[in-house]
Amino acid sequence: MSNTIKVVDVLLAIDEVFPFARAFDGDLVGLLVGDGNAAVSRVLVTLDPGLAALARAQELGANLIVSHHPIRFNSFGHYNISHVAHSYPERVLAQALSSGIAIIAAHTNVDVAQMARRYWGDQLKLEHVGPLPGLMTQYGLPGFPVAAEMSDESNPYGEMWTVSEPCSLDQLAASVAQISGRAVKVYGDGQSMVQSLATATGSGGGRIPEAQVAKVDLLIAGEFGYHAALAAVESGLSLIEVGHDASELPLVDMIAAATGLSGDMLQVHKDADLWRSIEAGPSLKS
Ligand SMILES: [Zn+2]
Repeated sequence: MSNTIKVVDVLLAIDEVFPFARAFDGDLVGLLVGDGNAAVSRVLVTLDPGLAALARAQELGANLIVSHHPIRFNSFGHYNISHVAHSYPERVLAQALSSGIAIIAAHTNVDVAQMARRYWGDQLKLEHVGPLPGLMTQYGLPGFPVAAEMSDESNPYGEMWTVSEPCSLDQLAASVAQISGRAVKVYGDGQSMVQSLATATGSGGGRIPEAQVAKVDLLIAGEFGYHAALAAVESGLSLIEVGHDASELPLVDMIAAATGLSGDMLQVHKDADLWRSIEAGPSLKS
């Protein structure tokens, strides 16, 4: 059976669930590297298409990586392997080509899908209100709300919710951490009660202005910049930072399911292994 599945078959299967045409302009999705007609030996689905994923694919005998994030190609299109042998993405590209591993990215076409947009709210058993309205900014004037359906671009993947039972910021944060299996970062008064909130995955910290205009109590997203977070808290908007990777790892499962493959043909790599936290330990010897 493995000989009958081609790279393009996996691409089309993903397109059925997460149409690539829905990706944002300029986003690199689809078959980024490789031969669409190559027979697939095994597929590795992962968050990032880096050297670690390539090494793992080789270990597993997988010749197709399906990742959520695209390879960040440089905008000039110069891939001088000898000159920049230690830099990303050139080594990824060189390694993928030399080892015959194809790479498909399913990025913003997944982010905009309802199952991805609603994942965190559904997991937290919140009541869905609707998409977080985007903001139109023009001529340096402050943004004003626009209907989300009019502006998918300015409202990539924020959703608004209300809690079904009263709960404090810290209670909600503990629940988020329980679902993700990782500690979360919380900005705001932990005892304050949360009624309305917005959720976004990945770098959805950019949704702070929209959350402020929507007057929700809390924004849950993948990552926030410190100064943006400070301004949010000063305006009365609490934040829960899940981690860019942790907020999107559930999307890896969704992409894996969309390949239509199972069993031996499908391997899913969901470790968030780019960074880790270290508890305080003894001082270094002087
Ligand atoms: Zn992301």
